[in-house]
Amino acid sequence: MSQFLRPNIRSMVGYTPGEQPQDSGFVKLNTNENPYPPSPRALEAMAEVLHSDRLRKYPDPLGTAFRKTAGKLFGVDPDSILIGNGSDDILTIVTRAFVPEGGLIVSPTPSYLLYATLADIQGARFEGVPFTSDWQLPKPWPKPNAHLTLVANPNSPTGTIVNNVSLERLANELHGPLIVDEAYADFADANATELTRLPNVIVTRTLSKSYSLAGLRFGFAIATPTLIRELVKVKDSYNCDALSLVGAQAALEDQDYLKQTRAKIIATRQRMTGSLQSLGFHVLPSQANFVWATRTDCPVKPIFEELKKRRILVRYMNYPGHGDGLRISVGSDAEIDRLLEEMMGIVQ
Ligand SMILES: *Cc1c(COP(=O)(O)O)cnc(C)c1O
Repeated sequence: MSQFLRPNIRSMVGYTPGEQPQDSGFVKLNTNENPYPPSPRALEAMAEVLHSDRLRKYPDPLGTAFRKTAGKLFGVDPDSILIGNGSDDILTIVTRAFVPEGGLIVSPTPSYLLYATLADIQGARFEGVPFTSDWQLPKPWPKPNAHLTLVANPNSPTGTIVNNVSLERLANELHGPLIVDEAYADFADANATELTRLPNVIVTRTLSKSYSLAGLRFGFAIATPTLIRELVKVKDSYNCDALSLVGAQAALEDQDYLKQTRAKIIATRQRMTGSLQSLGFHVLPSQANFVWATRTDCPVKPIFEELKKRRILVRYMNYPGHGDGLRISVGSDAEIDRLLEEMMGIVQ
C-alpha cells in the first residue's frame, strides 16, 4: 500500500514528541509540562459539563464564549481569535492555508522541530536561518520570500526572546505571514499581542504550559479578523471539543491562579539556573518554563543517560551546526532539588 502514499509522506521521518514514559516514578522534566495542577475553577467547569447534556451535542464550532473571554483578556476583538486543538493544530491550519506544495517554510534555528515536519507533510521545503550569536534575528532577514515564517518567542530550546521592535521589523520585511509562536509567553517579560494589528502577524498561544492543561489540548491564534475569517475555512469544523472549550475559558478567567503558579515557576527557574551554573553548565537566562544547559568541558549525552538511569527525564537535543545540550523543564521545587542532587553526583 505504501506506494500509493504521496512521496513526501513516504520519505519523511516524522516528528518525535518528547518521551512520555508509561510507568510513573520518573521526575519528568522533558516536555515542559507545568508541575502544578490546573486551575480548580477550570476543573470544576469541566466537571459540570460531564454532568450535563453537553457531550451529547456538537460543540460550538467557533468557540464563541471562549473567544469573548480571550478577547477581553487580550484587549482584542473576539473575531481576531481562532481556536485550536492545541497550538500545534493552529500551526497545521496556517501551514495548510499559506504553504503550497513545493513552497517554503522558514524559521530561525535552532528552534521547535515541528516546523520542519509541517513542511514535510505539506510537501514544502524547510530552511533554517541561524540566530545571531546573541540569539537575535539577523538583519536584514535573508529569506523574505517564504510562504510562512515562524518564530518561537520565547524560543525553544534556548528560552531566549527577541523584542517587538525586531519582530515588527521582520514582519515588515517579509512578503508573507509571520507566526509568532508564543507557547511560553506567559513566563516572559513581554509578548507580541500588540503586533497582531499588522496584517501579516499571527500570534499563537497554548494552554498546555502556563495553564497546566497539556492533556486537554487547547490553543488559539490572534490575528486580524480578516485573516482569522480565512483560517476558519481551513480548520476542522469541530476542532475543539465541548470539554476543552469550557475548561480553557474557565482557566483564562482565573488569572489570579495563573499569577501564583507563574511566580513559583519563575522563582524556581532563577534558582535552578544559578545552581546549574555553579555545577559547570552554561545556562542561558530563560524567559520560559525550561532552561537550556550546555557544557564545553564534557559531553552532555552521558549526563542525560545517567539522569535517566536515576529516573530523571530531561530532553537531550543535538542541533547539527549548533551543538547539543539539555533542555530541562522547571519542575516543582522538590523535583528540581532531586535533579540538582543527582546532578551533583554525576558531574563532580
Ligand atoms: C509546546 C509547544 C507548542 C505546542 O503546544 P500545544 O498547544 O500543546 O500543541 C507549540 N510551540 C512550541 C514552541 C512549544 O514548545
